[in-house]
Amino acid sequence: MAVDLAADLVAHMPHSPAAEFDTADRLVKEIARPPGEEPGSLPALLGAFREAVGHGVDTAGPGYLAYISAGGLASSAIADMLSQVANRYTGVAQLAPSLVAMEQGVLTWLCDLFGLPPGSGGLMTTGGSLATLSAVVAARHHKLGFDFTGARLYVTEQTHYCVAKAAAVAGLPPESVRTVPTTPALAMDAGAAASMIAEDRAAGLRPFLLVGTAGTTNTGTIDPLADLAVLARAEDLWFHVDAAYGGGFQLTGYGRARFAGVESADSIALDPHKSLFLPYGTGVLLVREPALLGAAHAGDGVYLQDLDAVYGLPDYAHLGPELTRDSRGMRLWLPLHLHGVKAFRNALDEKLDLAAQVYRTLADDPRFEVPWAPDLTVVAFRLKDGGTAANQELLQRVNARKRVFLSSTMIDGRFFLRVCVLSHRTHVDRIDELLHIIRTCVD
Ligand SMILES: *Cc1c(COP(=O)(O)O)cnc(C)c1O
Repeated sequence: MAVDLAADLVAHMPHSPAAEFDTADRLVKEIARPPGEEPGSLPALLGAFREAVGHGVDTAGPGYLAYISAGGLASSAIADMLSQVANRYTGVAQLAPSLVAMEQGVLTWLCDLFGLPPGSGGLMTTGGSLATLSAVVAARHHKLGFDFTGARLYVTEQTHYCVAKAAAVAGLPPESVRTVPTTPALAMDAGAAASMIAEDRAAGLRPFLLVGTAGTTNTGTIDPLADLAVLARAEDLWFHVDAAYGGGFQLTGYGRARFAGVESADSIALDPHKSLFLPYGTGVLLVREPALLGAAHAGDGVYLQDLDAVYGLPDYAHLGPELTRDSRGMRLWLPLHLHGVKAFRNALDEKLDLAAQVYRTLADDPRFEVPWAPDLTVVAFRLKDGGTAANQELLQRVNARKRVFLSSTMIDGRFFLRVCVLSHRTHVDRIDELLHIIRTCVD
């Protein structure tokens, strides 16, 4: 019955509203009621779930073009269901060596994909923010030890805020986060970063971490990773690459060329729940030296005394903050092996083409201002003759059609609408429809 419902949900996605906020708040109240003493009815409970899914934004459907879209491959969800039914423990390799090897195989494949050397590794996390937190903690621990006085790390205004959040969680005061100016293309200005680091050092401060982004959330802009890698090496900084949004594009020839320099990273944050189309809950942290991650997350309990390292496999519990964790490997392993890597590459190339189509069409229309050609699959645009209110209204009118759902952002203090093409379910038909809707909404 549950599997039938899953199939039904997928089958309805092309026709379901991209967003539905009109449902009565009856459901919100009803579904939150406490469980009864007696067994409930499965069909009724699944029915409530079905109804709840229809309330809000359909983030899995082809019309979801807001924030960073993803889709959520059903094959990965099936993998997860099987993993969870088996419920094997993968925090320590000895309890489920083959399932840990499954996760480790995927991680090793990713390390190779990004050109990290043999011996590199990492772990699967619940998302990019957690991967970033562990990277910041490892960098802090390795470069500064337990005295963080005067610590400085370098980002831009376009860097995802999870870096500053990670720094704060890691105990670093707000002034430790330095904002490097960007170029007109919104990428980090490597020269400005070099000057800032030199000034800080001369002032007796302790620069320890440089963060480059392989696809910013606002505009999909790629920082000059090769230049930043050289700078980080020269200044003895930890070089972290935030590829949470862009990482999957490393599978494409285009992405691999544009991300040159990423192979010099000390750590890379990836979000397979974005550019590998997985369901939410899957991030990855890759590190050049897993021992440094281990040093920053070390811990042990006497009740773990029976457990030894096996088959040269890592104990993920000792590489990140979590002890008990779900068995995560299969949710990437199954889709990759089942569909084949080429299917992912082709889908990502298709999204690059679709974003280019959105950019060309809007840029050719004199009514719109589209300042940045997309490096990846995000296009930010606004009405040329219109302030924030007019642009907000355009966004509302587009979304009110319920066939697509867009979001907005602020860039250089100005309001922009944003299209992000990244769901495996979004194809040219929906992009044509999007462009038609946008044009008719301004006519
Ligand atoms: C989404 C995103 C993050 C945060 O990842 P979560 O999976 O949402 O925690 C970090 N950096 C970039 C560039 C992102 O797009």
